[in-house]
Amino acid sequence: MSFSELGLSAELLAAVKKQGYEQATPIQREAVPPILDGRDILASAQTGTGKTAGFTLPLLQRLAAHRPKRRVVRALVLVPTRELAAQVIESVGNYGCNLPLKSAQIFGGVNIRPQISELRSGVDIVVATPGRLLDHVQRNTIDLSSVEVLVLDEADRMLDMGFIRDIRKVLQLLPDRRQNLLFSATFSKDIRSLAASILTTPVEIEVAPRNTTAERVSQLVHPVDKARKRELLSLLIGKGNWRQVLVFTRTKHGANRLAKQLTGDGLGAAAIHGNKSQGARTRALADFKSGKVRVLVATDIAARGLDIDRLPHVVNYELPNVPEDYVHRIGRTARAGQDGHAVSLVCVDEDKLLADIERLLKTRIDKQVVDGFAPDSRIQPEPIQNGRGQRQRPGRNRAGRKQAAGKPASRGGKRGGGARRRTHA
Ligand code: AMP
Repeated sequence: MSFSELGLSAELLAAVKKQGYEQATPIQREAVPPILDGRDILASAQTGTGKTAGFTLPLLQRLAAHRPKRRVVRALVLVPTRELAAQVIESVGNYGCNLPLKSAQIFGGVNIRPQISELRSGVDIVVATPGRLLDHVQRNTIDLSSVEVLVLDEADRMLDMGFIRDIRKVLQLLPDRRQNLLFSATFSKDIRSLAASILTTPVEIEVAPRNTTAERVSQLVHPVDKARKRELLSLLIGKGNWRQVLVFTRTKHGANRLAKQLTGDGLGAAAIHGNKSQGARTRALADFKSGKVRVLVATDIAARGLDIDRLPHVVNYELPNVPEDYVHRIGRTARAGQDGHAVSLVCVDEDKLLADIERLLKTRIDKQVVDGFAPDSRIQPEPIQNGRGQRQRPGRNRAGRKQAAGKPASRGGKRGGGARRRTHA
């Protein structure tokens, strides 16, 4: 379906054209018309499905349709991470390039002063992480009493990161009459209850993840001893001449150490995780995107929502503790119709994690021992260390996640085409 059939204005259609999009994605087809109608939305969609445009385009159209005399915050987009805030704000800028709307991004880890002056100069749209937004509320530097549209993007991640109390505080500051759009990759009990307390007769939209276990991502496991993973990784990158590789580690410390070691091996690498300053994260990402840095080593949370065009290789240096994160990780590759390649280096400690992932995917991942790297059968499994700073996600024990994660797997084969919409009366 083309964008022109969705009821979007000429200004927005021109902006979409400028982006080079030809067809609306399933989430865009399903979400744009009801959002334009002012309906609440409960959407199950991951990064990579085109969800940002799915809510940004109709949001911009609604805001542009009537403009108050004084510029006030009329749309609030809450996101879990600074990276996602930056990406949403970029989309708002791209899609809104022909409209007289102003937007600001609000996130922690950077000086608050420039944000204050931006807010003071007047903005229509605020994209914020919950903690810093509340800082502004406390300082009286933001007024949320005129918000007409609230978007919760990656709501499941916000709950994972412990933002629920902050979200509830923000909700109390918003007018009762408003439009609410909630996007989440998964639907746990907590998300359902948040949705029930916020949304009014929402249109429910479900789209199959565009790239997760899709046939476009080739997946491979290399069994290897833990102590030899780094050596194997350097070999794979060098021999395969991989120019752009996103590597996942379980801990921030592990990400730092690996980036250093790879750099020592002559492979330009940078680490990205929650302990890095915003400046360092932005720089690392920009260097990676431009090809200046060949390997980006990331933790799950830092990589969440990263949008890197044509990323060909994802490596699980360590398997994630929760199988669903595997799906998110490999979803970073094979975007926008490209082929992707996901490799996992699995040591004996991780056999159980691999079995959980295969159960979730309902498939076996091919295993291939690399010559010279056959695991030593005498090595016994040891408990997995999750690093000092790593918080146990509240309410997310393994069993709980498995249940929540079962959903995308059952839809895995319907990638791309499978949007379902259900209207709740
Ligand atoms: P998102 O799921 O919002 O993170 O978007 C993922 C990527 O898809 C972004 O790089 C968008 O620029 C791109 N995208 C969004 N909508 C479309 C479309 N209709 N056609 C092609 N690419 C798109």
